[in-house]
Amino acid sequence: MGAMDQHARLIGPVVFFTGAGASVGAGLPTYRGQGGLYDGTGVEPPNAADLEPDRLPGLWARFAPRLRAREASGPAPAHHAIAALERQAPGEVVVVTQNVDGLHQAAGSTRVIELHGSLGTMRCFGAGHSLAVVDARWGDDGVPQCPECGEPCRPNVVLFGEMLPRAAWEAGGEAIRDAATVVAVGTSASVQPAASLISAAATAHSVRIWVNPRDEPPDGRWQWLAGTADEELARLAW
Ligand SMILES: [Zn+2]
Repeated sequence: MGAMDQHARLIGPVVFFTGAGASVGAGLPTYRGQGGLYDGTGVEPPNAADLEPDRLPGLWARFAPRLRAREASGPAPAHHAIAALERQAPGEVVVVTQNVDGLHQAAGSTRVIELHGSLGTMRCFGAGHSLAVVDARWGDDGVPQCPECGEPCRPNVVLFGEMLPRAAWEAGGEAIRDAATVVAVGTSASVQPAASLISAAATAHSVRIWVNPRDEPPDGRWQWLAGTADEELARLAW
């Protein structure tokens, strides 16, 4: 591995595979990393058992700070850089993200595959109605209720112990297989099963670029750009 030629040009189609590090510049805490929401707090991340009715108020109490943080934030330079690359080459950029903050779309990216769901929406336990967080009616217990059927809602986010949504998983895998270049941004590739999407086999015929200031790429086939996502993505060009 080694530093990538700073004049290297991207070859499309490009998949940006993004993790928490892509949103650091937006001021959002990362999920489990240093300084993250669950780092050193002794609190386990929300998991599938928290969907039991008697635990729903607690689950939403833990999600509420994340919703507020998201509402108060906007896209970082990294999100804007990816959106700009898409505007320059429409149809040549796909974002496959482990993030749930919706900031790629807020920056203008149009092809975004969300592997872990979305903080911006929720769905009810009744008929599975999907609704925007802003449309929810919040009960006295702090649990949002579906405006259509009155049933309680859950976050539209994959909790620990849950399967990834199949459609997103398959679409992400297909995009990565079709990519001439895979740029992994701000992910430690330690979160399974998403990390298997960018395994050596899955990216065998792609140019591989690893943007991460701290975590090394999984192997030497990745070109490592060891700055922050905001710094490094601004330098990428067609
Ligand atoms: Zn409903």
